[in-house]
Amino acid sequence: MSLDGTYDDGNIFAKILRGEMPSARVFEDSHVYAFMDVFPQSRGHTLVIPKHSAARNLLEEDPAILAPLFLGVQRVTRAVRAALKPDGIMVSQFNGAPAGQTVFHLHVHIIPRWEGQALGRHGEGGMADPTELKALADQIAAEIS
Ligand code: AMP
Repeated sequence: MSLDGTYDDGNIFAKILRGEMPSARVFEDSHVYAFMDVFPQSRGHTLVIPKHSAARNLLEEDPAILAPLFLGVQRVTRAVRAALKPDGIMVSQFNGAPAGQTVFHLHVHIIPRWEGQALGRHGEGGMADPTELKALADQIAAEIS
């Protein structure tokens, strides 16, 4: 899907928000929902999405939604740091399939990085064990402040 198009509320993140699909929840408030990526590029790979949005990408988003979204991203990124003690943290976001986007509900990746550990390939890693994801989600959630 290119940058042009319309929002499809059958996308997987919309289903997660409606409770139609499971997810390993890390954090939520009235604006954002954070959960573990099931095909993590590193241990602790977390996603943050706006709850009340029909934007496929950053370009389409209402500025009033972007502010609380990125406050949520910062909050969760700090919790990832406190919980997992990474050496660095990549925060990324893709717009359009040619840029690597595969789910067309705006989302931000929080990917902890450790010295000497290669980054897993985007969208090509294996599916994580749900029990491990739940444990990581709880570990990060415990550090939300
Ligand atoms: P992007 O490629 O930037 O659109 O990112 C979509 C991300 O969603 C990828 O990193 C996928 O691994 C992840 N993903 C896909 N399906 C699910 C799911 N059901 N639960 C959690 N993460 C998912």
